[in-house]
Amino acid sequence: MGTKGKAIVNLDVKTLIKELNKALADEWLAYYQYWSGALVARGLLREAAVTELNQHAADELKHANMLAVRIIQLGGVPLTNPDDWKKEANCKYLEPKNRDVIEIIKQGVSGEQCAIDVYSKLIEKTKDKDLLTYQMLISILADEVEHEEDFETILEDMK
Ligand code: MG
Ligand code: FE
Ligand code: FE
Repeated sequence: MGTKGKAIVNLDVKTLIKELNKALADEWLAYYQYWSGALVARGLLREAAVTELNQHAADELKHANMLAVRIIQLGGVPLTNPDDWKKEANCKYLEPKNRDVIEIIKQGVSGEQCAIDVYSKLIEKTKDKDLLTYQMLISILADEVEHEEDFETILEDMK
């Protein structure tokens, strides 16, 4: 990022990069959780759930890309080693071990709730301090809120 571009960030940039990298780790794990969940899910209303899981996986990948681009702009390096994903993540990777589609969607709800927490905190930290990161985080949060609702609606429909 240019000199002036960096000067308008009113935060410790190193810490910010570290936190954005932790969110990046979350996004990769969420992507993989939904991607693999969509493949292994079995049970009633599977089709609706698989469609939603695949859409969300695509969104998480998009979030990973947004975070990585911003990390680079800030002069950082996005995590390049998958070994770091579990180490750095804020949220747990919930493996779709139980292939029951209801369990997989329930795991999705907890994943989204963790993501909502993570982004809410990051939004508080960047508010009035780094407008571009702040704006990006708000748009990611809006997706996570929608994801939670989508998964909860599927659970409702399954009742
Ligand atoms: Mg959706
Ligand atoms: Fe996400
Ligand atoms: Fe999400």
